[in-house]
Amino acid sequence: PVYEAKPTRYTDMTYRRCGKSGILLPAISLGLWHNFGHADDFTTARNIVRTAFDCGITHFDLANNYGPPYGSAEETFGRILKKDFKKYRDELLISSKAGWDMWDGPYGDLGSKKYLIASLDQSLKRMGLEYVDIFYHHRPDPDTPLEETMGALHQMVQQGKALYVGVSSYPADLTRQASEILERMGTKLLIHQPRYNMMDRWVENALLDELEKQGTGAIAFSPLNQGILTDKYLKGIPEDSRAGKDKRYLKPEQLTKGKLEKVKQLNVIATERGQSLAQMAIAWLLRDDRITSVLVGASSPEQVRENVKSIENLSFSKEELKTIDRILNG
Ligand code: NDP
Repeated sequence: PVYEAKPTRYTDMTYRRCGKSGILLPAISLGLWHNFGHADDFTTARNIVRTAFDCGITHFDLANNYGPPYGSAEETFGRILKKDFKKYRDELLISSKAGWDMWDGPYGDLGSKKYLIASLDQSLKRMGLEYVDIFYHHRPDPDTPLEETMGALHQMVQQGKALYVGVSSYPADLTRQASEILERMGTKLLIHQPRYNMMDRWVENALLDELEKQGTGAIAFSPLNQGILTDKYLKGIPEDSRAGKDKRYLKPEQLTKGKLEKVKQLNVIATERGQSLAQMAIAWLLRDDRITSVLVGASSPEQVRENVKSIENLSFSKEELKTIDRILNG
């Protein structure tokens, strides 16, 4: 059947301003790292994206090498766009990235202009788009001069192939330099995409302060620590979970006793708040308004719906925050 987006989608979601810019992002965004490859079920993938948009999620995050195989998540997303979202393109904010390994040889990895420009052209073809809304450099490259990498991002904007640019996993100091270089060229650093969740709080040291200074937004990836910050692993490893079926990025041995003990205790607090642990883990990130959006992944439409409901309770008492810190530091 023809897809018609839910008319009330924009009243159910909240939108937050991305740094000092004209862009508003949904408090929850959807990432397509997992569950959109060629081996994954297309109908499920399509339903996840439809459900997300029906919940007011306007932002979809991709990268050149999401799959497997590399490139296939962009292809799947391109098919979904073509089938369901033709008339909604201007309601969508679509991002892609390059910076990790993508193709063989010296020009398919890291941060050269050669790699980034060619990779964006490939991404546009796979998704069937004329431009992406945000293009990221995916990780720092210690050997390429930052001027070259930022110059590539600036050039994409000049050419109209990307409307905005961002960086991912850059430490605070490098982020400041990147922002200043871009600014000199006349392009703004719109957004930073760091890993941030209850079990990985590196951004709290200096990065978030720096982003505020630069007027740059932040979108937190792996907010559920790939699923660890849910109740799903408390009774063993379900076969259909990321640690059960994929195992490339979430290995069963990462589910240590110590981590699961913390998860158990966090789960009690979540229940007291009337939330699932997934919902509390997302709400906890949004407690800081410098976090523009939380970038979740989902293997089913139900997970999307559950995660979006986290915005119904975003406030934490001082006591709750203290108890959570105590559990996490324990
Ligand atoms: P999460 O930490 O949100 O983990 C998502 C996974 O957790 C889902 O695929 C699902 O796995 C499980 N899950 C989600 N919701 C629930 C729920 N309500 N209850 C139980 N289980 C749930 O994020 P990801 O690690 O997937 O990362 C999110 C996005 O961030 C990526 O898609 C990508 O766009 C981006 N990212 C960016 C990186 C970068 O370097 N810039 C690196 C990594 C991610 P399952 O059901 O299969 O167990």
